[in-house]
Amino acid sequence: MPRIPVFAPHIGADTLEHLSGALAAGWLGMGVLTREFEERIAAFLGLENRYVLVTNTGTSAFHLALRAAGVGPGDEVITTSFNYVADHQAIRACGAEPVMCDIRDDNLGIDVEKAEALVSPRTKAIDPLHFAGIPCDIDGVHTLAAKHGLRVLEDATHAFGTRHRGRKLGTFGDVTWFSFDPVKVVTSIDGGCVVTGSEEEMQRMQRMRILGVDKDTTERYKNRRAWEYDVVSEGYRYHLTNIMASVGISQIKRVDEFIASRQRVCRRYTEAFSALPGVRVPQTDFADVSPFIYSLRVLDRRRDALVAHLQSREIDAGIHFIPVHKHSHFAACRRGDMAVTEKVCGEVVTLPLHSNMQEAFVERVTGAVGEFFRGHSR
Ligand SMILES: *Cc1c(COP(=O)(O)O)cnc(C)c1O
Repeated sequence: MPRIPVFAPHIGADTLEHLSGALAAGWLGMGVLTREFEERIAAFLGLENRYVLVTNTGTSAFHLALRAAGVGPGDEVITTSFNYVADHQAIRACGAEPVMCDIRDDNLGIDVEKAEALVSPRTKAIDPLHFAGIPCDIDGVHTLAAKHGLRVLEDATHAFGTRHRGRKLGTFGDVTWFSFDPVKVVTSIDGGCVVTGSEEEMQRMQRMRILGVDKDTTERYKNRRAWEYDVVSEGYRYHLTNIMASVGISQIKRVDEFIASRQRVCRRYTEAFSALPGVRVPQTDFADVSPFIYSLRVLDRRRDALVAHLQSREIDAGIHFIPVHKHSHFAACRRGDMAVTEKVCGEVVTLPLHSNMQEAFVERVTGAVGEFFRGHSR
C-alpha cells in the first residue's frame, strides 16, 4: 500500500512545458514571466486599484510589507502564537518584537478582544492568520486597527482564493500576503506575494525587493537590464525568477480546478467525521474557502493515538501548529493569556489533502479515522 503524504504537489505535463519553455528562453532571472505571474494573480483575485508584487518566498513578502509599513526597532507587531514561525522571524528581522495573542475556539484565528488588551504605544501593526483557509474575524481586526491606528498585514498564506462576505481576500483591507511554497495550493516551488492598495507603497516594495535599485524592475520586466541606475533605499534579494514564475503561471492557470477538488475532499471528510464521537470538524461548508489543509480536532487527549493509528495504516498526519511561544527563541516574547491556544494545540491534526487527490486515498483516510473512533480492528 503506498504511503499517503500530508501534502503532495500537483505537477503535470503542463508545468514541465512551462518550465522548459522558460529555461529555453534563456532569461533565467526576474523578467517577463515574473510580471505575467503578477498579472495572473491580480486577475484571479479580481484586484481593482490594488497592486501585487511577487517575491521569492511568502516570508520575504511579509518582511517587505513590514518594512514598507515602517516597522523597525522598538516596534511591536501583534500576531498569534498559533501560527508558523515565519511570521515571528520576519518581525524580528525588522528589529521589532512579535507580541503573541490567543485565538478563538471557532475559527482558530486571532481573538480580537484579547488582541486589544495587548495594544501598547509601541504597537505598529497586526498580522492575523486565516488558519486552514478559513477567514478569521477580519472585520473585527480592521475595527481594532482603525481605533488604534495600526496597519493590518493579513497572513493569507493558507487562503489563496478564500472569500469573506463574497469578496476574495486581497481585494479589500490594507495589505494581504500569500505564499506559493512547495506545499501551498498554488506553488512556484518557492514564492509569495504581497497585495497593497497603495501604488506608492508597491513601488517602494518593488525597489526594496531588488537591493534598493531604482530602475531595475521595469527593465527586467522586459527581460532587459538597466545599466544606469541609482540605489535609493534599503534593499534585499527577494525577487522571483522567470523560472519559478513559469511554474507559478502553470499552476495558477489551474487554480480553480485545484480549489474545487480540495473543497470536495474537505466536504467528504466532514461528512465522514461529523457524527464521530470525540472530534470537532472545521466550522465551514467550504463554499467560500480555498482549503490549504484539513484540520480535525481530536478531543479527550486522543490526538497522538489517532496519529499513531494512521501511521500504522501508512497514512501521514501533520500538526499545525506547535505554538511559537513554546519555541526557545521566542519563549520570552510578550503575550497574553493563551488558554485556547494551549488547549487547541493538543487537539489539532492535519489530515492528507491534495489537489485532485486520489479517490483511494480519500477512502483510506476516512476509513482509518472512522475505524479508530468506532474502536474496530485496533
Ligand atoms: C507557508 C506559510 C508562511 C511562509 O511562507 P513561505 O513561502 O514558506 O515563506 C508563513 N505563515 C504561514 C502560516 C504559512 O503557512
